[in-house]
Amino acid sequence: MRSNPTAARWTATLRRWIDSQAPGAATVDDDRIDWLRALPFALLHLGCLGVIWTGTSTAALTVAALSYALRMFALTGFYHRYFSHRTFRATRRVQFVFALLGASCAQRGPLWWAAHHRHHHRHADDFQDLHSPRQRGFWWSHMGWFLTRRAFATDLARVPDLRGYAELRWLDRYDVAVPAALALSCYALGAALHAWAPGLDTNGPQMLVWGFFISTVALFHATVTINSLAHRHGKRRYATRDDSRNNLWLALLTFGEGWHNNHHFYPGSARQGFRPLEIDITWYGLRLLAAAGVIRDLKPVPAWVLTAQSEQ
Ligand SMILES: [Zn+2]
Ligand SMILES: [Zn+2]
Repeated sequence: MRSNPTAARWTATLRRWIDSQAPGAATVDDDRIDWLRALPFALLHLGCLGVIWTGTSTAALTVAALSYALRMFALTGFYHRYFSHRTFRATRRVQFVFALLGASCAQRGPLWWAAHHRHHHRHADDFQDLHSPRQRGFWWSHMGWFLTRRAFATDLARVPDLRGYAELRWLDRYDVAVPAALALSCYALGAALHAWAPGLDTNGPQMLVWGFFISTVALFHATVTINSLAHRHGKRRYATRDDSRNNLWLALLTFGEGWHNNHHFYPGSARQGFRPLEIDITWYGLRLLAAAGVIRDLKPVPAWVLTAQSEQ
């Protein structure tokens, strides 16, 4: 008896919602958007519309803001500056705690993120860059690339320093687990506050919508502005071979990542706002963690970088 190839493909895709390494997961030379695989991403956006029914409250807005801030710091400080660029040192335990926080952002696991980001630096804005607005325009660089069969794969050859950690590989493989746990926790928190502090005027569904759906979607779009807008809009201090820009507004939104031309010129520093007025909230946070002994050996911006030839 012949199996139905369409049904088999659907079943395989559904399995990959849960287990990103289920058979057929990696199709590294396919640039088409995998619509079925991308359905949870669409549902994440649709979940925000729940606010029409749940309304809002000060408690829900506060949790959403905290959820955004804490997770943005985990993304920029750890997914980016630690896992992708190794700009400071941390113990295995600290590394795991922030990997867990980063994983809750629904931007896949730390190995996936670092492997793709290292590839971006190697090929920034050339024809191999997966998310260059120069190559394929705004929407592609913002989110189209993220949903392709090619981008779902993780090339472990790009992260030889990280792939030996079993706990990080687990986060990568089951990348839906932590966001799902956060969603449940938000619901539980709202339900508990509804029961024990009715004066706060919140409940489970409202906290789920604000603490998880809205803050996670805001985080996603803020993060990927660095792929799309920060390679188009802003100033170029350094004549890098890519189109990266420095942009204050994007730096505020992403806790310092908007100093993207600085970063492409010298990615080896834990700091991305190179000058005192270049606000880099992640850098301040990392300094605090270092002062408290949680992390160590923050790599500074070398003097030659500060005085290097600039375009303006
Ligand atoms: Zn870039
Ligand atoms: Zn980078």
